[in-house]
Amino acid sequence: MTQHSTPPDNPTALRGQLLAQRTELLERMAYERGGVMGRAEVAANQYETASSDNAQLRTERETNFAMSEHETAELADIDRALELMDKGDYGTCIDCEVTIPVARLIATPTALRCIACQSAHESHHPQI
Ligand SMILES: [Zn+2]
Repeated sequence: MTQHSTPPDNPTALRGQLLAQRTELLERMAYERGGVMGRAEVAANQYETASSDNAQLRTERETNFAMSEHETAELADIDRALELMDKGDYGTCIDCEVTIPVARLIATPTALRCIACQSAHESHHPQI
């Protein structure tokens, strides 16, 4: 009896999903940099030469920075998942080395930990 099925520890279809997610994220970041962020930078530079009172612009720049921080973290997660795929370690919890259920990987392709380790990690490193 021959049985052909994709091994659960090698969900190659997820690679395409991650690459698509990565492209989409990069496009969104480029759009935001060219739009809101680009304008804020230009305005701030002009303002700094004209006046030292740029508190409002500084606040705007910090908001933009926080937004890009979140996206940078998301990009890092995607890159990490792709890197693990290349090494053949994808789908294994980075903390306890248990095999992450495929259903979880399909729902969250960037998942690096099993659900138990992820909740433990989040309680130690709360993210706002
Ligand atoms: Zn784990």
